[in-house]
Amino acid sequence: MGVALFTLGGTISMAGRTGGGGEVVTRLNGADLAAAVPGLTGLGMPLDIHDIEAVPSANLTFANILALVDSASRAVRAGACGVVVTQGTDTLEETAFLVDLVWPHTEPFVLTGAMRNPTLAGADGPANLLAAARTAASPAGRGLGALVVFNDEIHAARWVRKTHSTSTATFASPNTGPIGHVVEGRPRILTAPVRRRTPYPRPEALDEARVALHTVTLDEDAELVAAVAEASHGLVVAGFGVGHVPSELAGLLGTLAERMPVVLTSRTGSGSVLRHTYGAVGSEADLQRRGLINGGLLDPYKARILLRLLLAGGADRAAVTAAFADHG
Ligand code: ASP
Repeated sequence: MGVALFTLGGTISMAGRTGGGGEVVTRLNGADLAAAVPGLTGLGMPLDIHDIEAVPSANLTFANILALVDSASRAVRAGACGVVVTQGTDTLEETAFLVDLVWPHTEPFVLTGAMRNPTLAGADGPANLLAAARTAASPAGRGLGALVVFNDEIHAARWVRKTHSTSTATFASPNTGPIGHVVEGRPRILTAPVRRRTPYPRPEALDEARVALHTVTLDEDAELVAAVAEASHGLVVAGFGVGHVPSELAGLLGTLAERMPVVLTSRTGSGSVLRHTYGAVGSEADLQRRGLINGGLLDPYKARILLRLLLAGGADRAAVTAAFADHG
């Protein structure tokens, strides 16, 4: 029994370029990361290290993450009591949610990274890795799905967001707050998230499930929205406030909703889109009458993850609608 550590790159594993200027690139592997964390030896169990792919998190794909889930599953079946993944923070809120939707085990799947690279004073990677490993090793982490452990906070994948471009406190769950904290090295869970899963898709089917995300902005250009939707099999709309768009866009979105699922979310960053409060053309109630699917509390990025997995899994419109009613 031990913790399986998978490394993917990102700031946590970056160091100075050999002979180069002040820029950092990925140079550290899992053994280097573990060696930089004094407390890790006190974990009381072995760390089984797997270096996967040292890429910036912007380069990660659904296929990468599903392959990682497969590898992590094998580690759990071989006896690991939990999994830690280090990766870049930029896409971590999305990868965590993707994992959470398909992770079939009670063993914790913990993702972490760093905001300050190892060449900077106060680099946060070692502390984040230690807190993540402690959470993965703890019985308290079981049954909670994918977790993001960062800055001594424990966040549920369902709710976590990257909220700041540089702060070490960037990860937050605006709708709920963290579900726990690592206190004096001990993971303390305050509340357990409700877990909802989706069927694991065939990775090849992802190519046939192109889902666009469009954020509605002031003086929106409907032609641009139509162009974005043209090559898509599904569309997520990040609307204003509670789920509103300019009235000129309402007809187009209704037409698109006749040929593919169009999910309505809010661009605000927290809170739910509404269902039956506003009645103007382009309001949430109007858009639903035109066939848009209500994304509820799912933020646009997470809605896109869910919709793509559903489409890749062969879900029809009724199944997509039912899934968003459940997850949203
Ligand atoms: N650009 C980096 C990445 O996501 C940022 C980070 O790791 O925090 O790979």
